[in-house]
Amino acid sequence: MAGGNYYDVLGISRNADEKEIKKAYRNLARKYHPDVCKEAGAEERFKQINEAYSVLSDPQKRAQYDNLGHDTYTSASKGSYTGGGGFHGGGFSADFSGFGDIFDFFSGGFSGSRETGQRGGSDLLMRMQITLEEAVFGADKEIDVNHTEACSHCNGTGSETKKLVHCQRCGGSGQMRQMSQTVFGQFVRMSTCTECHGRGRVPEKKCTACRGSGHTQVHRKVAVHIPAGIETGMRLRMEGFGEAGDYGAPNGDLFIEVQVRPHPRFRRSGDDLETDIEVSPAQAVVGSTVEVETIDKKKVELVIPPGIQYNTALKIPGEGVRRRGRAGDLLVRVKIVIPTQPKPEVRSLYEKILELEGHSPPDSKKGFFSTFKGKK
Ligand SMILES: [Zn+2]
Ligand SMILES: [Zn+2]
Repeated sequence: MAGGNYYDVLGISRNADEKEIKKAYRNLARKYHPDVCKEAGAEERFKQINEAYSVLSDPQKRAQYDNLGHDTYTSASKGSYTGGGGFHGGGFSADFSGFGDIFDFFSGGFSGSRETGQRGGSDLLMRMQITLEEAVFGADKEIDVNHTEACSHCNGTGSETKKLVHCQRCGGSGQMRQMSQTVFGQFVRMSTCTECHGRGRVPEKKCTACRGSGHTQVHRKVAVHIPAGIETGMRLRMEGFGEAGDYGAPNGDLFIEVQVRPHPRFRRSGDDLETDIEVSPAQAVVGSTVEVETIDKKKVELVIPPGIQYNTALKIPGEGVRRRGRAGDLLVRVKIVIPTQPKPEVRSLYEKILELEGHSPPDSKKGFFSTFKGKK
């Protein structure tokens, strides 16, 4: 269910400060808490309120949200399985209802924040290399994911009958007491139950397909949307695409860490791109017009003003990284290249300039190398 704009969910303005956000959240959370509010849809509303608050109360997330917009932030990377048609069959898709609802990228530590008490599936981390063009324009890619999913034969319960029963060995506590009598007295040692591995429940009859684990290892192709403007180190979170949870507990998430490959012509600096062009000394002195190719292969005429100095950056506005409508600039660094073997006419003109400047060309007999040789 689409919750709408997070600001609307909390009923606050776009420039609400931290205090106002907190206050709005407190009031709404109290009102719609499922233990308090018996209205239809209260639980869903409560979830939305929490989701909105978790983003807007975090300055970094809020900035990303403002920057990307609601749709991109929440659904641009909505993951979906492609190919392998079996996915929607067999009562399996129900386990994935929350798929890709939350899209989040952050560059901090690897955090699997899950509030459930049940043992959720592990998060997975994958690295993906993309080109600079893909980072600038965004892209849709397909990645291969090897992960566990809930066994379709037993709906992830691990039980042929889809029922779980109390563990006999530990009586459902998941813990075992081991008593030992020593000369120092009686010791009680608690350990995790070896039968149910601490779950307290075991499959009524072990599933024949997954041998009671509730999981099957599968290989999937997952469609990933890369939003325009992404940078190296940013992570895309694909909610629910990690490892299968325990006996129906939520799946872990898949994090895709993006690495942008270096480009032969362009360097990135924030939302700007940088490239180099080579000009002759004459172009630098007199000024000139050169043609520059932008990252989307557009030809742009760039005026080199007379007297430009080496490494000066000339700006072509709007040809940088485009992030949510706003575009960075393309900075063109001017490299003045000295001709090593000029044509005789050109050389004689340079000699003329040299003369006008009051210099004389090096005497080949008195040059550095000849002096050096002469001393030997
Ligand atoms: Zn047990
Ligand atoms: Zn099974």
